[in-house]
Amino acid sequence: EAKKQGRNGLRFFDPAMQATLEKRSQLESDLRDALELGQFELHYQKQVDDEGKPTGAEALIRWKHPQRGMVPPFEFIHVCEESGLIVPVGQWLMKEACHKLSQWQQHESMSHLKLSVNISMKEFMEDGFVRQVHQTIEASGVDSASLELEITESIGHSNPEELIEKLHLLRLADLKLAMDDFGTGYSSLSYLKKLPLDVLKIDQSFVRDLGVDISDESIVQAIIKVGETLGLEVIAEGVESEEQFKLLKQYGCRKFQGYYFGRPVPAEEFEQEFLFESPILEGSGV
Ligand code: C2E
Ligand code: MG
Ligand code: MG
Ligand code: MG
Repeated sequence: EAKKQGRNGLRFFDPAMQATLEKRSQLESDLRDALELGQFELHYQKQVDDEGKPTGAEALIRWKHPQRGMVPPFEFIHVCEESGLIVPVGQWLMKEACHKLSQWQQHESMSHLKLSVNISMKEFMEDGFVRQVHQTIEASGVDSASLELEITESIGHSNPEELIEKLHLLRLADLKLAMDDFGTGYSSLSYLKKLPLDVLKIDQSFVRDLGVDISDESIVQAIIKVGETLGLEVIAEGVESEEQFKLLKQYGCRKFQGYYFGRPVPAEEFEQEFLFESPILEGSGV
């Protein structure tokens, strides 16, 4: 039966490939269910200033699978992107993030926090993305200046004009825009200059070998310089040690994120640090 010709003229000769395809379509349908069943969760990782004080958080998606436990994004985000499921998933997570942010903004000890949300290229380039974001912000009542969208360099290559226009529209609405994983893509500096951004995130691959690999030290210093030149805030991700923290500060970096300061954790755990005296009550309608 593996040699039967499909309607679209494709032939599957290879049982291993057949199995891969079946596994893949099972995963897609599981992901669809996951969204309906509320199995996605956002975890929050601290971002800090040069004294280690929290300035905000990055929201990172997890799939709380009934059998497999917490599934990390690299195992399913690409499937969401390729299947188009990232659009409803992205809408869900933007709502969830705004809901959290609006709670934080009602608490004195958390009202200064910024919240960053990752946006896939597929999602970003979808018609109606900007409108959808506006609506979600409006409905949640959050101060949009505290919301940051993280995009990646690769995002630009399909349609740069449309990308730039969308970024401008989002910025008009006061949102902050960050370039994630900076240095791993291949955009030119002249292209970067055209993008209306607020923040550059130094990719963790360059931070990892600070103090070990001389060329990574130079790259990190160069990225910080680029940020300064373009008037962007620079944040280093993947900071795992005091030594990395010290070196980055020495190079002029002012914002940091990484296991050294805290791992991504569920909202309640993230909030503990700020709210141990007056916890947010679930369903309190704030
Ligand atoms: P990212 O946006 O660059 O997120 C940073 C990743 O580095 C996160 O992995 C985080 O847990 C991890 N990380 C943070 N600090 C450290 C550290 O000190 N050392 C090391 N080794 N890793 C650290 P995570 O949560 O597995 O997410 C991986 C990627 O999946 C993200 O990279 C992002 O591209 C994507 N992703 C995560 N959540 C979402 C989401 O809600 N929407 C979309 N579209 N993509 C997401
Ligand atoms: Mg990110
Ligand atoms: Mg990153
Ligand atoms: Mg990334």
